[in-house]
This record gives sequence, C-alpha cells and structure tokens, in this order.
Amino acid sequence: MSISAGPDVAARAESGAELRDVRVAIVGTGFSGLGMAIRLKQQGSDDFLVLERGEDLGGTWRDNTYPGCACDVQSHLYSFSFALNPDWTHLYSPWDEIQEYLRRCAERFGVASHIRYRSEVTDATWDEEAQRWRITTSQGPLTAAVLVLGNGPLSAPSLPAIPGLAGFQGTLFHSAQWDHAHDLTGERVAIIGTGASAIQFVPHIQPQVGQLTLFQRTPPWIVARRDHPIVPWRRAVYRWAPFAQRSVRALMYWQREIGALALVYRPSMLRSFENLARRHLAAQVPDPTLRAKLTPNYTIGCKRILLSDDFYPTLTRDNVEVVTERIREVRAAGVVTEDGVERPIDTIIVATGFHVTDSPLAQLVRGRGGQLLAEAWRDGMQAYLGAAVAGFPNLFILIGPNTGLGHTSMVYMIESQIAYILDCLRTMERRQIQTCEVRPEVQAAYNDELQRRMRGTVWTSGCSSWYLDARGRNSTLWPGFTYEFRRKTRRFDAASYALTPQEAPRVPAGLRR
Ligand SMILES: Cc1cc2nc3c(=O)[nH]c(=O)nc-3n(C[C@H](O)[C@H](O)[C@H](O)COP(=O)(O)OP(=O)(O)OC[C@H]3O[C@@H](n4cnc5c(N)ncnc54)[C@H](O)[C@@H]3O)c2cc1C
Repeated sequence: MSISAGPDVAARAESGAELRDVRVAIVGTGFSGLGMAIRLKQQGSDDFLVLERGEDLGGTWRDNTYPGCACDVQSHLYSFSFALNPDWTHLYSPWDEIQEYLRRCAERFGVASHIRYRSEVTDATWDEEAQRWRITTSQGPLTAAVLVLGNGPLSAPSLPAIPGLAGFQGTLFHSAQWDHAHDLTGERVAIIGTGASAIQFVPHIQPQVGQLTLFQRTPPWIVARRDHPIVPWRRAVYRWAPFAQRSVRALMYWQREIGALALVYRPSMLRSFENLARRHLAAQVPDPTLRAKLTPNYTIGCKRILLSDDFYPTLTRDNVEVVTERIREVRAAGVVTEDGVERPIDTIIVATGFHVTDSPLAQLVRGRGGQLLAEAWRDGMQAYLGAAVAGFPNLFILIGPNTGLGHTSMVYMIESQIAYILDCLRTMERRQIQTCEVRPEVQAAYNDELQRRMRGTVWTSGCSSWYLDARGRNSTLWPGFTYEFRRKTRRFDAASYALTPQEAPRVPAGLRR
C-alpha cells in the first residue's frame, strides 16, 4: 500500500531542498517516532518527516546517560518485535546499548534520512481552510496532512518546587541532564528523589563522592533485579535460531502479564509480592532504624515497583545519610530541612521525574477553532485509545493518555498504536478521506469506562504518585492486560470517527510554489 499523497519529500530531503509539505509529520526519535517512521517506510511510504529537537536520535536513551542507567524491563522484551537484537549483552541493557540499537534500526530500515535534527516543534495548528497541520519548528515551517506526536511522556524533566532551589550556588542538575563534565569526587552531594533513576545511579556515585545525602519523601518498594550478562554462546544461539529468542521473549511477556492481573484485577495477589520486597529489604539492611525509614507505608504497586540489587546495600555505607525530614528550603550552599538542620552541599542532583500529566507539547498544539490541547485537557488528559483527541483532526499521539504501564514493556503499547494509526492511514487512502476525528461521545464513553475500571486497581489504593494528575485522576496508566489493548488497536474502527471526504487539494496560503 502507499499512503503518499504529497510531493516526494524523501527525494527533496536527500537533495537538501527546502521542505514544505508532507503527508505525515512525526515528532520525536525515541521508540515511538522511530517505530512510526519505520512502519511507514515498510508500508511503502516516503512522504514523511521526523522532527527531532535534539542533535541525535534515541529519546529517553539519548537523554538519560546517568551512571548505571539501564532499562528495567528485560531487553529481549523491551525492543521492537520486528527487530529483535540477539546481541544484547545484559538482561537489562545499559542506555548506550539501547541508543545504539535504535540507531541501527533507523539505518537498517532506511528512515535516518527522514530525520530533521535540531528541529524543535514550537507550534502546531490545525488549518481549517487547508485541512492540514501548520507546524512551526526551530528550522522553519512545514505543513502536514497528519501529525503524529511521539514526544514522549518522560522527556521533559521536572524540577521540584523547593524554595531557594534556583539560588543554589553549587552545581545543580537533573538526572536526565547529567553533567558529565562535573567531577563529583570527594564532594558533598545531595540527591532529591528516590525513584527509578535515583536507585540506579546512587550505587554508582556513592564510592566516588565524599558524603551522599539522600532526601527521601516516600520510600519505593524495591524487589531484586537479578541482572546478568547474556553469555556469548546464548547470543550465538539467538543469532543462529531467532525463534529461541522469540520464545524467551514470549515467556517474559506472559510472566509480566500476570503483573497486570495483580495490579488491576486482584490487588490482594500483591501481598506475596510485598512479602518478597520486605524480605529483600530485611536481607540487605540489617539496621532496624534505617530499615524503618526505607519501609513504604502504602500497598506495593500503588507507585512504580522498582528493581535493584545494590541500592539498599549502598545506603548502609558510612558516607551515606538517608534524610526523611522534608526539605524546607535550599540556600546558597546547603539544604535546610523542616527541623531547621542545614546540611552544606556542593552538588544537588535532582531525580524527581518528568512532566507527565502536564506535557509541554499540549501547550503548543491547537486543534479546531484554535483550541489548545492543554485547554481541551483542562480537566485532565484524555484521548481515545491513548491516540486520538476530539477536536484535533488527523492528530495521533503515541503513548498518550492511559497507555502507560506499571508491569511491562512500553514498546508493546507503542507498536499496538502504530498498527492502529497505519490502518487509519490506509483507510483514509482507500476511502479518499481528508480528515478523521474521533467522535466526542466515543472518547467520553471510552474514558468513563477506563475510569470505572481504574476504581478497583491498586493505583487508587491511597498513595500519591506521578500516575495521578492534579485532580487525583489516573490519566497515565492502562488499566488492563496489554493484549487487550492490542486487540482494541488491531483495526481502525472508522465508525468511532467523523470522516470527511477529500476535496480538490488546497495548498495553504503562503506555501504556494
Ligand atoms: C530512565 C528511564 C528508563 C526507562 N526504562 C523503561 C523500561 O525499562 N521499560 C519501559 O517500558 N519503559 C521505560 N521507560 C519509559 C520510556 O520513556 C519509554 O519506554 C519509551 O522510551 C518512550 O519512547 P518515546 O519515543 O515515546 O519517547 P522518548 O524516548 O522520550 O522520545 C521523545 C522524543 O521527542 C523529542 N521531542 C519532544 N518534544 C519535542 C518537540 N517539541 N519538538 C521536537 N522533538 C521533540 C525528544 O527530544 C525525544 O527525542 C524509561 C524511561 C526513563 C526516563
């Protein structure tokens, strides 16, 4: 099939000519944007561009380069189904291997030449007249019939609102923007946050720093990670017999789906998991006072369950202090807690996550009537199948609202959505459709059902987490098995959309050649 409708953009891209109009514009070069581009290419389309604000591809795996950064879903599963990598060196591969994998995918599937680096999307407005998206980027404007956002829910680092943080005179950086030029040797280092990133880098920097102070608001539940190298003979088997790797991947997938059963349908099943985590803590932290500080007081799974073998032992070292007192303020040279104690600090590393429920891109995308996506989401983000939003024709979001997972690989969700969007594009081509826009009543019913299902889940058992928005509504996670999501996204369901037929092509004013 071909979904090409505009000029031969790829050819113009090769020649370096100015780019003005494409059939599909994709934002981002993480698993989402690259996956979308690769699948388009595989379906015979060349009429697309990938807009990337960075200087390299990889998204999460380009930005998160902190010591010890690695995935926490096994690499066999955390990779594209159409591009298994027999050469993963570890069960949970480090960031640079994942980025290299994504680079190889971009080359192998011929999408590298479609990427426009240093092209930050600063505005995307639906042009009613032209029936196209007008997109402004830091490299100039373009228009597109279809806009696919793969800007990532965890790509905008979030700083905590602590008084005085901006006035800190030492070194300050976010874990997703690690300052590799800064030498931590012998320094007094404060870490704010104890989430998935902190537990990975704390064990790596502790031997190097003079004093490490970990400011913890809520302790995470942590279970053993049991990472290990994948020995060369195994890699050879995977290379020689790909079905062996597929079988391992399938096994991992189904083991993890049991997690959904517990998190969503039977939170009582989590009790044995909680006991496992308690035993892990007890085995690694003999000191009862420290253990008490590190014991969560909410049901396991309510916040993300973390994996680590070396975080707890690190916290028992002489140069580490775990502070559970809230931070009152940051001063020029130290951090002051609510009890009035000031600790002198040379470097603060902020590991407080990302803008998840308040994505910056929602402030830049305008649909029908100029309505901002952020405005459409003023009562909380919502979409249909996490991808389509009423009032925003020909717009698709990859891993948009309620597609996040607490138990398995996001790449599975991304590939499900890509298949759905491609089927939509094929349908548009076949039926000569100009615009497709999800019906508001379909979106509303879908979200009512999601929120109804959310009620029995562990995520609503009373903790505060980044899964919840300002109103306490869970607009981030998929409340079900992932195969259920795949089933729902297998085919584009045209009846759920308002479709308008193609008219004679209308080239936007100002872009006429
Ligand atoms: C440290 C860390 C570890 C993780 N580990 C796992 C794991 O083990 N398993 C798992 O399933 N998930 C994991 N995740 C979640 C992970 O984010 C997703 O799995 C996946 O990588 C998201 O891919 P993406 O392409 O949607 O977004 P991203 O990888 O975030 O890519 C988004 C891209 O969009 C670009 N972009 C954003 N805004 C603009 C703009 N305005 N203009 C142009 N370009 C823009 C960004 O520069 C970036 O390149 C992890 C996340 C983090 C932060």
